[in-house]
Formats: sequence, C-alpha cells, structure tokens
Amino acid sequence: MNAPLTKEGLWRAVLAETELAVSRANFLTWFRKTALVSMHNGMATVSVPNEFSKEWLEAKYRRMLLKLLRSYSEEVRDIAFVIGKEERLHTAPRTQDAFTTPLPLKTPQISRDTNLNPRYNFTSFIVGSFNELAHAASTAIIKQVGTVYNPLFIWGGVGLGKTHLLHAIGNSVVEQQPELKVRYITSEKFTADLVSALRTRTMDSFKERFRSHDVLLIDDVQFLAGKEKSQEELFHTFNDLYANGKQIVFSSDRPPKLIPELEERLRSRFEGGMIADIQIPDLETRMAILTAKSKERGVELSSESCRAIAELIEHNIRELEGALNRVLAEHKGGSQSLSPAHIKKALSGVKELQRKTSFKEIIAVVARYYDLDETVLFEKSRRQEVVKPRQIAMYLVREILRASFPSIGLRFNGRDHTTVMHACSRIAKECSSSGPVADELIAIRAMLQNSVQGGDSQ
Ligand code: ADP
Ligand code: MG
Repeated sequence: MNAPLTKEGLWRAVLAETELAVSRANFLTWFRKTALVSMHNGMATVSVPNEFSKEWLEAKYRRMLLKLLRSYSEEVRDIAFVIGKEERLHTAPRTQDAFTTPLPLKTPQISRDTNLNPRYNFTSFIVGSFNELAHAASTAIIKQVGTVYNPLFIWGGVGLGKTHLLHAIGNSVVEQQPELKVRYITSEKFTADLVSALRTRTMDSFKERFRSHDVLLIDDVQFLAGKEKSQEELFHTFNDLYANGKQIVFSSDRPPKLIPELEERLRSRFEGGMIADIQIPDLETRMAILTAKSKERGVELSSESCRAIAELIEHNIRELEGALNRVLAEHKGGSQSLSPAHIKKALSGVKELQRKTSFKEIIAVVARYYDLDETVLFEKSRRQEVVKPRQIAMYLVREILRASFPSIGLRFNGRDHTTVMHACSRIAKECSSSGPVADELIAIRAMLQNSVQGGDSQ
C-alpha cells in the first residue's frame, strides 16, 4: 500500500479522474469549486459553492464520486455535500500531497509565448468533406508561411473546430520552423490589451508587440463588431504584418459580410485572401469522429453505438464529445458492453429537449429562473436585470430550436436580427469565460429538461 493520502491529495485524485469522465464544461461548472473538508467515521464531507450545485451533485454525481472515493480509500462509506466557502482546486497546497507520482491532470500546458494549446494539433484533427477546405488551406499555409492564402479567414458554427485549427496551424509552424514567432489571441484579448495600453499610455509597446510576429492567429473576430478602436488598430496591425510578408489567420462564426458593424476597410481585408468555411459534419463523419475520440480514451465503441450518438447530435463537435463523455461516464464500472439501448438511456433527454421544447416553454423557464414576469422579456426595457435574461432567452431559442436570427427577432416583439445576433454572441462569449452565465445556462437547461420530462409540454 502507498502512504495514506491527505484529504487534499485524495480529493485531487478523485477530481483528476472525474475530469477524464465528464465534459470540460461540466467539470468546470460542478467540480472546480469543491473540496473535501472532512473525513469522519467513513463520512466524506464535500463542500460545494451553492444550493444548486449541491442538488446537482447529489442527483447526478453522488454514485460516481462515492465509487471514486472508495477506490482510493476503503474506509469511505458515504458522502455528504455541504454549502461552504469557495475553495479552488488549483489553490490546494501541493506540498501536502502524499502522492509519490503526480496525477495526470489533463489540463495541458499552454505556452506563454505563443498562447498555443498543444492538445489542438493536426494529428488529433479529423478531416471530412465538411472541413476539408479549411484543413487544406491551413496545411498549405504551414508550408509557405505568409505567401499563400494571406490572410486565411476560417468561419463556421460553434464547436466545429475553428479554434482547434488555429492552434494546429500555430503548433505546426512552431514545430517545423522554431525560429518563427507565432501568437494565438482571441479578439476579446486583443481588445482588452488595447484598452489597457490606451489607459496606461503604452501604445507603442502594444503596436510593437503585435507587429513583431511572423504568424498571428486571431480567433472569433465577430466579437469586434461595433468596436471601432479595436477595428482601427487591427486594421493597422494587419497592414503592417501583411506588408512584411507575415501570415495572418482569422476565425469567425460567420463570413465577413455578415459581421455587423464592421468597418468596410477591415471587411475588405478579411475578404482579401482565402475564405474557408467549415460546414456541419455528415452522419458518417460524426461516427468517424466518435470512433477516433473513444479510441483516444481507450474504449472501443461499436459502429452501432457510434451511430446512436451521432444521430442524436448533429451540429456541434464539442457536444458530440460531451455526449461521448456522458455515455462513458455512465458506463464506467458497468459490466455489460455498451449497447445502443444503453446509449439511448445515457443520452435520454438530449434529443427530447430539442423535440419537445417550445418557444413558450423557454420563455416560461427563463422568466421563472430570473423571477421575472414573462411579459417583461418582450418589452423594450434596457434595465440590466431584464436585458440579460432576455439575451439568454434569445440564445436558448437559437440553441434549442435552431431558429434563425430574423425569426427570433420577430418573436421578440419585432426586434431587428442584428439585435438577436448581438445577444447570442454576447451570451456565447460570456459562457465561454466560465463566469456565472455558464452556470446559469446549465441550470436553466436542467430546468427545461425537467419540465419537458414532466411530459405535459406543448
Ligand atoms: P470552435 O472554435 O469552432 O467553436 P473548437 O475548435 O473549440 O470549436 O472545437 C470544439 C471541440 O471539438 C474541441 O474539443 C475540438 O478539439 C473538437 N473538434 C472540433 N473539430 C474537430 C475535428 N475535426 N477533429 C477532432 N476534434 C475536433
Ligand atoms: Mg472557438
């Protein structure tokens, strides 16, 4: 036997395994702020940040956590969740760790120079007809940095591999031509850096910094909509890099001509090189992605099983991965092999939510969650406590019902489609920063799921 684990060490071990078993979003939402606060007479007490997490962990993850705890410490008999002070996983003191070998924490090292995530590379990128063009253009760039396809503008829906491709380009360049200076940046970070340079009067070093790169990868440029100063600065940065034969790659969730409030001169720069889109992968490709991703996790899924998942999730590779994780997590420890019936069970609710949810229901649940009257969601009020719920409602209508921007605008009291686009971008942005919005969305989706499963919808 190894030396006994400390509380911290034990919990870190459990979290490390949990991280492998659930999706990244779920991990961040439900587990990041937990801690093992005591172990008494076989009772493991875990602190959680709020009531909602407590209920959720109890309902969904109790069994898994108990099992994991027991696999490290046989004395554990039961688990209790208490609402306690926030405690972050990463602030736990490492020196108290009784482990002799470090646990494989999955978070890869992001390079500080380049901002590149090594996990996103070409080896792990699956190519099909849906992303062939974007992939081909990306690999062409690496062979001739700055000379073909400059700029490269990659666009496509959420979760379809844009960020992955940008990192893959960067990682490949660094690997093949280590003398080149590469940098990945999101457009929000670009804006934030600009704002801080303006405030601290360090524009010269800002300009210098961005213009010294051989390859600049700028993600999610749709967020520059309406940001005049950022657009202006990006325009000049672009011109400078371009004139010096440096490579620039942009990504966006839509083509340049559909980015609202974008200066014409910047739009024409975006369109001046190669525009490559990523479409939605077809069923076969989605199955191939699942096969590959399950292999990475050391699991062999039958093609029937892959089909069962791929038929359920059509529009988003991140969700596809999430569903796979959910299936594997549910299955963990189960002795029977993974059958399509099992998968249907593990994923029950996912499709149902799409099929059964109505516009009315989304409005009702959002209003209930924020404790608002439904009608105020349609009013023109600009009060902050109404604006955010309204934007969330629009976002969920888009996500769940796959409605178009203009049709959502119409249903929200005849608003313009650009208002809806702005709302959706803003919420998407906020939830990618894992702030409260991400948690709120998860809670609202769970409420929707409950009300749909209640069976009396529509
Ligand atoms: P986007 O930036 O378009 O929203 P991401 O690049 O973040 O999407 O991709 C979402 C998730 O799906 C990531 O985990 C990524 O690794 C994975 N993914 C996307 N496209 C592919 C692909 N072609 N092959 C393998 N994994 C992919
Ligand atoms: Mg992205």
